[in-house]
Amino acid sequence: MGEGELYIDGLWARASAGGRREVVNPYDASVVTTVAEADAGDVDRAVRAARRAFDDGEWAGSPTRRRADLLRRVHDLLLRDREEIARTETLDTGKTLAEARIDVEDVANTFRYFGELAGKDGGRVVDVGPDVLSRVVYEPIGVCALIAPWNYPLLQASWKVAPALAAGNTFVLKPSEVTPLTTIAMIRLIEEAGAPPGVANLVLGSGATVGAALTGHPGVDLVSFTGGLATGRSIMAEAAGGPKNIALELGGKNPNVVFADADFDAAVDNALNAAFLHSGQVCSAGSRLIVEDALHDRFVDVLARRAGAIRLGDGMADGTESGPLSSAGHREKVERLIAVGREEGARLVTGGGRPADPALGRGFFLEPTVFADCDRSMRIVQEEVFGPVVTVERFGTEDEAVALANDTRYGLAGGVWTSDASRAQRVARRLRHGTVWINDFHPYVPQAEWGGFGESGVGRELGPTGLREYQEAKHIYQNLAPAPTGWFKG
Ligand code: NAD
Repeated sequence: MGEGELYIDGLWARASAGGRREVVNPYDASVVTTVAEADAGDVDRAVRAARRAFDDGEWAGSPTRRRADLLRRVHDLLLRDREEIARTETLDTGKTLAEARIDVEDVANTFRYFGELAGKDGGRVVDVGPDVLSRVVYEPIGVCALIAPWNYPLLQASWKVAPALAAGNTFVLKPSEVTPLTTIAMIRLIEEAGAPPGVANLVLGSGATVGAALTGHPGVDLVSFTGGLATGRSIMAEAAGGPKNIALELGGKNPNVVFADADFDAAVDNALNAAFLHSGQVCSAGSRLIVEDALHDRFVDVLARRAGAIRLGDGMADGTESGPLSSAGHREKVERLIAVGREEGARLVTGGGRPADPALGRGFFLEPTVFADCDRSMRIVQEEVFGPVVTVERFGTEDEAVALANDTRYGLAGGVWTSDASRAQRVARRLRHGTVWINDFHPYVPQAEWGGFGESGVGRELGPTGLREYQEAKHIYQNLAPAPTGWFKG
């Protein structure tokens, strides 16, 4: 990366003040590489480039077919480089290579989906009568500030970049400073696919300096942010000054409700997956298990035994089932919350500490942790831990289960396990969450909206609404038979 890792106005550049930042492999705390650390001046240059590229109208006014073609090329290039990008994601995040490979495919599919959607989006005609042609057309918003987190660095960025491009916007993207590498690779592919200079821009650096300079920049028309609740609040307050358009994908404390008539093996296995995939560093992690009394004790026993058997290790190695947490600081935060759970009286069934295996000693590992005898008043039940920690509560009736599942300030996702199809649908409709899985957990598709009720966010990504977030609706009303109105008589 000789010429630098910032991408501004079609050129790769170093940070103007020469800043660098180390990128750390969470498996063994080794330094993978260093990348540019930008400052507010670099952000200003990037936003101005995006502004110029938007205002000259070439990209924004281009036929949807041209944008669709670009997105399809990015899709193809991602698949060409799939293995290398997946390996980079594993080095950067610690997640298993198997999961990183799935992520890259999902990212490619996201580009393909929005490419197809862009090509079909002709707006709509409103039938007002024979003498009027009334059309609603959807136009790009302008310059988008796109800010992504570290848990799914490439995936979360793609949910913003693909629809932003499909709609004809220009953007400045800032990945998390913890995990910038695959985002740099994606921008290289967007360049290779033929994006005009200034359409796609990349800045790297801390949230406090680079992120804040970006969201506060007067040249930005839309801020789309994925990350934590506290950061989302400050970004929304900042955006109010514009006001700017805003989309927020925030945290979750996602209930997974298991009725006694569920398929036991499938429910336990998926509960494990829901809670411990990527060490629980998933916004939609099923970190709050709510289990019917009749099933509870057996369920907790099997869950805890299987959680204790999860093979932690190097994401690159065959046989590793889960990797470390993303950083030393994040592990400490999770450990503090585990201590809170103990103090609150939750029963620690398994885990709770760092693994004894000396081979894992340098990385940021934590054991998969199960707390039973939890109740809704506990912080460990209400706060997003974002680590390998699941709490278990119990219920007697369907109403109790729904009340517990909705007893959260968040509302991102939830699961329902039952063999009673009508109950499944009934409960799914009563849950105040943006996604509800029945007899499954975690799948999402680019064709369906993703986002949160309550404090899990504002707006939606993916699906047709995920494109609309990046568009302004314009009503064009044409009177085909103009005549005086006669309203004013003089
Ligand atoms: P974070 O809020 O610390 O950081 C997210 C991004 O915001 C990073 O790029 C960071 O540099 C930037 N940032 C930080 N402060 C900023 C500021 N003042 N102004 C502008 N940008 C700033 O979140 P994180 O720790 O990277 O990610 C974890 C969080 O993300 C969790 O809460 C998780 O639930 C959430 N998340 C949500 C979804 C979803 O789809 N709802 C998906 C993934 C992650």
